[in-house]
Amino acid sequence: MTTTTATSRPRRTRPQSPRKVQQAARRQARRLTDEIMAQSAHPAQDAAAAAALTQATLTDTELAAWRDDLQQRLATVLQHSEQHLGFVEEAIARAAQEPLRLLAQRAAQLKANTTPCQCAHCHRELTLQKLLPRTIHSRFGPLRFWRRYGWCSDCQSWHFPADYALGLAKKAPLSPYLQEITALLTTKMPPEQAVAVAQRFGVDLSRCTLHREAHRQGLKAQAARSAALAQLDSWEDFTALARATEGPPSQPFTLVIEIDAWNVRERDHWGQTDTLRAQGEKLDRWHWVYMGTVFRLDHRGHTAGDRPVISQRGYVATRGGLEALTRQLHYEALQRGLGQAQQVLVIADGAVWIWNLAAERFPNARQRLDLWHADQHLWEVAHDLYGRDTPEARQWVAPLLQALRNDQPCQIIQTLEELQPRLNQALQEKVRTQIEYWNNNQNRLHYRAIMAARKAVEKGTATPEQIQRANEPLGSGAIEATCRQYQCRFKRTGQFWTTAGDEALMCLETFWRNDRWHLLFAHAAPPSLAHN
Ligand SMILES: [Zn+2]
Repeated sequence: MTTTTATSRPRRTRPQSPRKVQQAARRQARRLTDEIMAQSAHPAQDAAAAAALTQATLTDTELAAWRDDLQQRLATVLQHSEQHLGFVEEAIARAAQEPLRLLAQRAAQLKANTTPCQCAHCHRELTLQKLLPRTIHSRFGPLRFWRRYGWCSDCQSWHFPADYALGLAKKAPLSPYLQEITALLTTKMPPEQAVAVAQRFGVDLSRCTLHREAHRQGLKAQAARSAALAQLDSWEDFTALARATEGPPSQPFTLVIEIDAWNVRERDHWGQTDTLRAQGEKLDRWHWVYMGTVFRLDHRGHTAGDRPVISQRGYVATRGGLEALTRQLHYEALQRGLGQAQQVLVIADGAVWIWNLAAERFPNARQRLDLWHADQHLWEVAHDLYGRDTPEARQWVAPLLQALRNDQPCQIIQTLEELQPRLNQALQEKVRTQIEYWNNNQNRLHYRAIMAARKAVEKGTATPEQIQRANEPLGSGAIEATCRQYQCRFKRTGQFWTTAGDEALMCLETFWRNDRWHLLFAHAAPPSLAHN
């Protein structure tokens, strides 16, 4: 997923004579070279030395200097009885910084020297070739190297093939490793903390660089996501996706999909707020973030402390609206085995949009209303009738909570209907809404069999079918926990986001969670997925 270094795509709107184009290109090359000559004290020697490099190694003198420096640093630590292993670790890391920087710089130079000077688009040999140095920041410090660039007469643009080969973006100052680190840190913490944490790990980044680079990586992630989602639009790709499995064929399984949403605070109209308010516009700064999670029921288990855990699961998070959520969730469900699942189970709270989405994309799925949300609705009526947490409220709600667990929504609806005429106007309206809620959701209340199965498992009398059923979640706790985790980063006090900013960062975070980080940062692939 490296970004191309091409300065532009072919532009052919105003055709110029080839001679004029060549002349302009030559002038530009001269100007670039002049700029560099002005910056370096011995540019000609530097460039010649760089071009002559054939090995990325340290000289014997450099190795000896490293060894001496290291021994000196360690000797100092060992002399001081209060300096523990942490001091040893620091001493070794500091002594290694410069030799490692030199090695990385030489390896970068060698890579540049061996990269053919061809156009990235049409692979044509570039003309008007010149050498130009570039300095980038790496995990070992600044690296300076020289690389060839040239003009593609076909695409009519300048190309720096070595930059492309090294994974460097145009005008972005960071090495691929630091590109990754900015992305990772920024998804986990606000920039000011990320700067301090990076510094502690020996990487100096300004807040501005960190922010700009992380956003660029977020856009890269969004582009990668869009490319993946395009598979949904071609029948061939779609069937391939539906056939793809996560491993060897297994026992029939149930795929669980949980959906929820929360609010993010955004600053939509930078600098125009007062003007727009004066014009009487109502500025709504809270926007929905839609989220989903997908997992196989047989990947759900319990810790020793009986806390439910899911070993493999897919995540979806977007600020892009319901259509975006629907596509992303469908893709994620296919990735996690929608095509092979014996059953699909959608669990969520009572939001109408969720069930519309489920009916549209997962028409054969079983639907389950989150039990705790359902309980909450009964408690609301109880509190309205008898006051918050009164014995009367508890007494009134108890048989209804039981009816809910017995899969008897009719009993709940009947109780509410009988109650309604005896209430004042305001309460009648409230109870009417509740009756509607239970009517809408009565086919999503299936808890009894699960509870019976769980009891049978406890008693040791469960059938194999009951053992499986006992593992089914009663509620959408998995997605609610995920929402809270995202909120820890995206919903901090006094924090504002822009739509573009939070979507890009959320997309990065979701790549990380979905174990697809290496699709953005190839060097970060786990050994099992590495190229060689
Ligand atoms: Zn070209």
